[in-house]
Amino acid sequence: MIPFLDLKAQYASIKSEIDTAVLGVLASAQYILGDEVAHLEEEFADYCDVKHAVAVNTGTSALHLALLAAGVGRGDEVVTVPFTFVATVSAICYTGALPVFVDVEPVTLTMDPAKLEAAITPRTKAIIPVHLYGQVADMDAIMTIAARHGIPVIEDACQAHGAEYKGHRAGSMGISGCFSFYPGKNLGACGEGGIAVTNDDAHAKTMRMLRDWGQERRYHHVAKGFNYRMDGIQGAILRVKLRHLDGWTAARRAHAAHYSSLLAGLDTVKTPVEVADRRHVYHIYAVRCRDRDGLHRVLEAEGIQSGLHYPIPVHLQKAHEDLGYRPGDFPVSEAAARTVLSLPIYPEMTAKQVEQVVAAVEQDAYVG
Ligand SMILES: *Cc1c(COP(=O)(O)O)cnc(C)c1O
Repeated sequence: MIPFLDLKAQYASIKSEIDTAVLGVLASAQYILGDEVAHLEEEFADYCDVKHAVAVNTGTSALHLALLAAGVGRGDEVVTVPFTFVATVSAICYTGALPVFVDVEPVTLTMDPAKLEAAITPRTKAIIPVHLYGQVADMDAIMTIAARHGIPVIEDACQAHGAEYKGHRAGSMGISGCFSFYPGKNLGACGEGGIAVTNDDAHAKTMRMLRDWGQERRYHHVAKGFNYRMDGIQGAILRVKLRHLDGWTAARRAHAAHYSSLLAGLDTVKTPVEVADRRHVYHIYAVRCRDRDGLHRVLEAEGIQSGLHYPIPVHLQKAHEDLGYRPGDFPVSEAAARTVLSLPIYPEMTAKQVEQVVAAVEQDAYVG
């Protein structure tokens, strides 16, 4: 059996460090926020090459707070992509604003800057590109259009810890960047977690206040806030794991390169493209398939788990039918939803396991 990812293997590889960190929090009784979370914020801000990081309870909360800090609310519009995890769009809806979609471009499956300008109206208050699978969207083109209209850009970097665009870290280019620490993400907590990063002092202050009931200081609630605080135990665990992240990313990139060289000759699958000047961190290694569902079944029969990211674009989800979109509105996203298949990739995977997955994909090519 080859799993899609192996969180037990990751824990086993750093067990003593994690256990010590958790026991330290239990002894300190700093169960919510506290020193460990404050240190994580400093270290993660450094990692992203930004001034501030505000730790929260999920990546979705980070997006919600980033939007609120940008002044987004009822009656506003926020432009994003339909080919993403639904949370990007949910966060927009939480503010009362209307999500407006632009299609992705066919090679990277990230926001197509050529289609962005047409989606902007006088009500557009933010733009959220998604760094899908761990590759940064075309930020230069997106930032140029956004700047022309005076609209802030919030990066959904929930899949892109440590990814780079022309030497800039994911999350450091927009007004803010949002990350998830869901266990399966490249940097994952042992539970839920998230963080928003920014170079803007005022945005950082607003997000910090809103995550803790809108308190400016104790007992003084100056805004209608939320309970979006990070647990101390998650902060301590994430600090340990952050020290390993670059090594894990190197392993992911090595597996991706191995996959791509072995799969290069097959005409049943197309391998993902890493654009020059963009450092892909391969949260997901997704191939485009001639017969996606067929290959999915073949791998399953071989005991190889694979994933679908994502089979239904957000504009066609029942939850968002009120937006009034129809099949055919975003053809690139819809084609991607029909053809992408995510192969197993995680740092602890072996080269031999990559070769076993490839052998199963090849078998499908000869049979199918
Ligand atoms: C995981 C993810 C989120 C949400 O993060 P949570 O921590 O699960 O709330 C948002 N956007 C994208 C693109 C994601 O992959």
